[in-house]
Amino acid sequence: MNKNSSNIMALAPSTSNKRETVCIFGTGDFGRALGHKLIQSGYPVVFGSRSTQAPSLIPKDAEVLSHAEAAQKAAIIIIAIQRQHYNFLTPLAEILHGKVLVDISNNLKMNEYPESNAEYLAQLVPGAKVVKAFNTVSAWALQSGTLDASRQVFVCGDNMQAKQMVMDIVRSLGLTPLDQGSLLAAREIENYPLQLFPMWKFPIFLSLGLTAFFFFYCLIYNVIYPYVQENQDFSFFIAITIANQICPTLALILLASVYLPGILAAIIQLYRGTKYRRFPDWLDKWMLCRKQLGLIALAFASLHVLYTLVTPIRSFIKWRTSSQTISQALNNETEPLDNTNAWLGDSYLALGILGFFLFVLLGITSLPSVSNSVNWREFRFVQSKLGYLSLILCTAHTLVYGGKWFLYPSSYRWYLPHAYMLALIIPCIVLVVKFVLIFPCLDKPLTRIRQGWERNPQHSE
Ligand code: NAP
Repeated sequence: MNKNSSNIMALAPSTSNKRETVCIFGTGDFGRALGHKLIQSGYPVVFGSRSTQAPSLIPKDAEVLSHAEAAQKAAIIIIAIQRQHYNFLTPLAEILHGKVLVDISNNLKMNEYPESNAEYLAQLVPGAKVVKAFNTVSAWALQSGTLDASRQVFVCGDNMQAKQMVMDIVRSLGLTPLDQGSLLAAREIENYPLQLFPMWKFPIFLSLGLTAFFFFYCLIYNVIYPYVQENQDFSFFIAITIANQICPTLALILLASVYLPGILAAIIQLYRGTKYRRFPDWLDKWMLCRKQLGLIALAFASLHVLYTLVTPIRSFIKWRTSSQTISQALNNETEPLDNTNAWLGDSYLALGILGFFLFVLLGITSLPSVSNSVNWREFRFVQSKLGYLSLILCTAHTLVYGGKWFLYPSSYRWYLPHAYMLALIIPCIVLVVKFVLIFPCLDKPLTRIRQGWERNPQHSE
């Protein structure tokens, strides 16, 4: 049998509706799952295996042959075998010459080998056309058909025709191929399945760190201090009072941290007089995870709303209200309505409600289905203008509630200010600097810099 003629036939565009045979090396979990799916989609499938005794789990319409025999039957060979066993392909190099080899392998660690598995395969079988694909799809998802979350198949390779053939197969399986370019992209594609919420790491660590810090801070302030100084046991504050101090504090700090990197970037650009120099890595990374920071802030704000709603049914609050009423009755006096306090209380609630409403709106517009339906200008308007408005309202909400404590010496316990006072520091800095940056003497040069103007053009080299 002339192997070259079979390759040429297979690589030529198909004129009939009949699908080309696909060969799969390896009858393991992935090979079998892909085989099932290919047969369902009308492809004749032949397996290349170390043992030609077809295991019971092999799709019944598939053939199981030796590697060499199976390879002769198809122009596309999917290598469903771990990278460490690729050596067995070297003696088959002549048969595999001109074939499209699809590397689907993953590693256990990021950048485990000096070269990607696909590049390694290309080195082992230099005459083959290697294409990387399918590695981000799991065997279980293929088998069970639950591919909703991972319909995208990243494809890369140096040979356009080979890549096109693989992308046609991907489409026939009901998946979406995404061309990632040449085989050089394989390294990155192989790292994808090993990435665990890459954009969420910093926001999650930051919020966990801040939660731990504010928990101990509030514990000292609200429980340990009264216990040591006044012998009062307020340990039950841990359940709701402290949680309801941590949540708004974090919501505000994290919301401010969404806008802080933009402010820092503006200061850096103004100082350098150019936009053509890279920001420090930490600032780049911070800017990339602003959406995640905002969503975590929204989660804390939502918890704050829930904790606040249960306030009237808390036994401590009921006890405090009834004691105040009883004390007024016993002393035969009625406290007059304090109009200033009533104004402050209502304004504080109104600011909180409006701030939270805008916050939710920001969260909704960051959903891909919504952000895809607005243009870039509209998206920027919502995320920037409404975002700042939400930050202003939420900061004002906290200021009206906790700002007065700055003035009372009694609110400093062991020289520690109340958590709400700490919560105000970063948002106030962000808002003040943003306000300063709006002044034309700064805004104009910044706008020019962002349009490409440079103060000292030689700096961009
Ligand atoms: P597996 O269940 O361990 O199967 C691998 C197959 O390789 C075996 O069934 C065997 O087939 C063959 N094999 C084993 N040792 C060999 C050797 N020394 N020489 C030649 N062939 C050998 O692995 P798998 O889960 O199917 O994964 C296969 C590949 O797909 C891996 O590279 C993996 O990274 C990738 N992948 C897997 C998944 C998944 O969800 N499982 C998802 C994406 C990518 P025969 O007995 O028929 O020779």
